[in-house]
Amino acid sequence: MGYANAAFDLLKRSAIPPYPQFYELLYTYATGVNPSLNNRINAVFRSGVSPSTDLAEALYNEFLRSDLNERMSSVSERMHARIESVHDAIDAAMTTANAYSGSLQSATGDLERDLGGDAMRELASRLLFETRRMQDTNRELERKLEASRDDISALQRDLDDVRRESMLDPLTKIANRKSFDDGLADAIEEARQSGVPLCLMLVDIDHFKSFNDSYGHQTGDQVLRLVAMTLKSNIKGKDLAARYGGEEFVAILPSTDLKGAMIVAENIRKAIQAKELLKRSTNEKLGRITASFGVAGFKPSDNASSLIERADQCMYAAKRAGRNRVVSEDELIEITEMPAADVSAA
Ligand code: GH3
Ligand code: MG
Ligand code: MG
Repeated sequence: MGYANAAFDLLKRSAIPPYPQFYELLYTYATGVNPSLNNRINAVFRSGVSPSTDLAEALYNEFLRSDLNERMSSVSERMHARIESVHDAIDAAMTTANAYSGSLQSATGDLERDLGGDAMRELASRLLFETRRMQDTNRELERKLEASRDDISALQRDLDDVRRESMLDPLTKIANRKSFDDGLADAIEEARQSGVPLCLMLVDIDHFKSFNDSYGHQTGDQVLRLVAMTLKSNIKGKDLAARYGGEEFVAILPSTDLKGAMIVAENIRKAIQAKELLKRSTNEKLGRITASFGVAGFKPSDNASSLIERADQCMYAAKRAGRNRVVSEDELIEITEMPAADVSAA
């Protein structure tokens, strides 16, 4: 509600019309999840010029509009047009076929009577004419069906592309939150049925805000891509790495127990830490980044959110313990139990 109210206040204060896309723009601004967008909007507010509808439109298009929706509706429109055209061709063929069958029927009636040579010739030429018309319509139908087949294959490929992209995070090109949600639901279902272990790993980049503040968001975005690639290249098989949001990543590790997941996480932690960052444009050395990890194992009483919640608690425990480390839920239990032990000792 806080974000929603803030978005409404901003809408009211600026003279931007309260269209859904502008609400979304200012809501996103209020949450602060997109620092590049916030930088741009802050600059507008600082300039003192009240933002125009055109500017809001441009910002929406640049930061939030997904061209996937548009491509999806273009594919669906083309599909519609194709189906319509095939429909028309079938209708035409059926009308001609009906007329043809009518002509045949009346010819049969005529033939039952005794026809003279002229009438016979006239009948034959009428039937020939109708047959040619029927052939033409059939050829037209064939041509349209042939064209549709090629077109529909192309549409199918476009649809596959759109579907694939809708599962990816546009910045890092690894799985997005939606594919993660779907993947986790499937993995939990599978673990529940098979009894095979399943682990969830949550990764949060350390002090990323100050990295962004020092080197800019473009460089920050490069780092997000690097972390995403490091994560992806250190997992295998049925594992799924995804961007959870902002500078947080997740990995679903099916058929992996807590001990195995800790090894994977530790490898990734070391791999991230080992990368020396260079600014591409200037070759300036930017030092290194680190990340904190939380690892939780699936329990039969878990659902997706309880499992994420435990991995999140572990990740925060890693932050509190000094960052650049992996904490598993076994350690979390020790950490949370410690104060109780201290109290009883005192
Ligand atoms: P901590 O070690 O406690 O995690 O500190 P932190 O600074 O990483 O954490 P905090 O949650 O305070 O800040 C997260 C920052 O991540 C905020 C923002 O600057 C940055 N960030 C989030 N999403 C993006 C993005 O898409 N691009 C860039 N460049 N930065 C992002
Ligand atoms: Mg974070
Ligand atoms: Mg962080």
